[in-house]
Amino acid sequence: MKGLLWNETPVSVENQQITEIPSEPGLKHIAPGLVDIQVNGFGGVDFNDPTITLADYRQALKALREHRVTCALPTLITNQGQTLEEQLARLEAYRAETPQGGETALAAAPFYHLEGPFISPEEGYRGAHPLEDVMALDDPQAEKWIEAWQTAANGRIRIMTYSPHTDAETVKRFTGILKSNGILPSVGHTHASAAQIHAAVEAGAVLATHLGNACAQLLPRHENPIWAVLAEDLLSVSMIGDGFHLPPEMLKVFYRMKGRGRTLLISDATQYAGKEPGEYHTHIGGDVVLTPERKLHIKGSPKVLAGAAKSLWEDWRHVTELGFASPEELWFAASGAPLAFLTGKEFDWELTPYVFI
Ligand SMILES: [Zn+2]
Repeated sequence: MKGLLWNETPVSVENQQITEIPSEPGLKHIAPGLVDIQVNGFGGVDFNDPTITLADYRQALKALREHRVTCALPTLITNQGQTLEEQLARLEAYRAETPQGGETALAAAPFYHLEGPFISPEEGYRGAHPLEDVMALDDPQAEKWIEAWQTAANGRIRIMTYSPHTDAETVKRFTGILKSNGILPSVGHTHASAAQIHAAVEAGAVLATHLGNACAQLLPRHENPIWAVLAEDLLSVSMIGDGFHLPPEMLKVFYRMKGRGRTLLISDATQYAGKEPGEYHTHIGGDVVLTPERKLHIKGSPKVLAGAAKSLWEDWRHVTELGFASPEELWFAASGAPLAFLTGKEFDWELTPYVFI
């Protein structure tokens, strides 16, 4: 049987077992592909861009695969309901036309992550999401929109990030709507109290999105969502491992608290991941600078991040250098753990084919 391909290198496979691995100069290891559950864009392509073409879509999945990401969740952020519906339908049409995963040269994009629009309207917690499109959990149109989006996505919205900063009854009802639509509820971009986060977990929330980011700069020392999330044993966490969004201490403490299987590394990459360092002009965010260290910041304000610009593979290398967990454990946090979160399996022949590293 013809084997898996990576960089056009054949690997011999029989009965879904690797029987022969050719030697590749400079490549020392073979591992299951990476699974990135939060990718806004990659390689110059923004999944949120309404003018995205089929060629763009494939270019992004190809660039992801070159970075050892074999499964990625295109992530859409807060926008108008109609716009989200159209964008999901567009991406889903491209997905249906594109052979992905397994032996192809493209990352698979079998699911979507909807980050918003049911998030905190508060400054800091809201991050860069547009305030005018933020919706409340008790919006009378909420259920209608969620069903419309899920229909447009062919049932492939797998994660929704939302803020449970309201009464327990509303949180329970909203979280139930997500679950009945086949969506894994994830708390994030939230100023919810510990009790409100607990209500979300009791109702079925299973993840906290990019813990430690999308927060106010100054937090009450005792009562803040970071402690609340860490104390919820049933919540997994995702964390951005690029070295700019979180300091080493937070990455280490989050990993120590949540451990193997409940810590998921994500890139939260923008279209600048996979691009050359330099200055870029954006139509929304103005001018941005991508440094050689892959820090993306607003031009003239080196301390103001403009998003993430490393691939999950680059994040893994950074977090590995911190030394608080083994390279194998951290690879699992970026491959087997997120895959199991999405599908219940730690390995999948199509979604996590082997890659060289
Ligand atoms: Zn976010």
